[in-house]
Amino acid sequence: MPDYQHHWKDGTPVNLPLGKIVCIGRNYAEHARELNNPVPDEPLLFIKPATSAVHITRPLDFPRNQGAVHFETELAVLIGRPLTNASASDAEAAILGYGLALDLTLRDVQSRLKEKGQPWERAKAFDGACPLSPFVCIDRLRRDHLTFTLDINRERQQTGDTRDMLNPIVPLIAHMSTQFTLMPGDVVLTGTPKGVGPLESGQILSLELEDALFVETTVL
Ligand code: ZN
Repeated sequence: MPDYQHHWKDGTPVNLPLGKIVCIGRNYAEHARELNNPVPDEPLLFIKPATSAVHITRPLDFPRNQGAVHFETELAVLIGRPLTNASASDAEAAILGYGLALDLTLRDVQSRLKEKGQPWERAKAFDGACPLSPFVCIDRLRRDHLTFTLDINRERQQTGDTRDMLNPIVPLIAHMSTQFTLMPGDVVLTGTPKGVGPLESGQILSLELEDALFVETTVL
């Protein structure tokens, strides 16, 4: 049974329930290109359920008999206030913390679903599909952009810079709230930069957000 609970970096539990994880596809142009996808003219949104969340430090596990499972390293935003049709300033004020996530994706399944024009949940919403790090508070007023990295077996695999997002964090959250009410404890995933690839047993994944957060995990 899924038993995920948000935590701060110091280990303190965040006293908010995870309701849902609202995600955007193709928010970095170079990642859209690497998968031969057009850049969408409006944000491509989808939701991962709370049951997909796991602590990222737990060895990564996923369905083994449905083709490739890709890692997508993403900046995660923890929402602290209810947001419906939010203004940019409300969206900004609702940001409680930042973390890192892996938007795990059954890529072969997703390709089939895309061909048929079917929803992506089978590829994106399975138990364990959203490993989440602890969260940290970052004063974005003092840092106008955030960078994050993924190393696999000590080699750089992905580098993200929020300046390269097609939909920047605050307007993205405001837009999401025009489609779905965001509740305290919900998480927003902001898209992956280029460099995605398949997970393989035994890999060591090291994720870093600025100098604020470092987490490491392995693939079961
Ligand atoms: Zn993603």
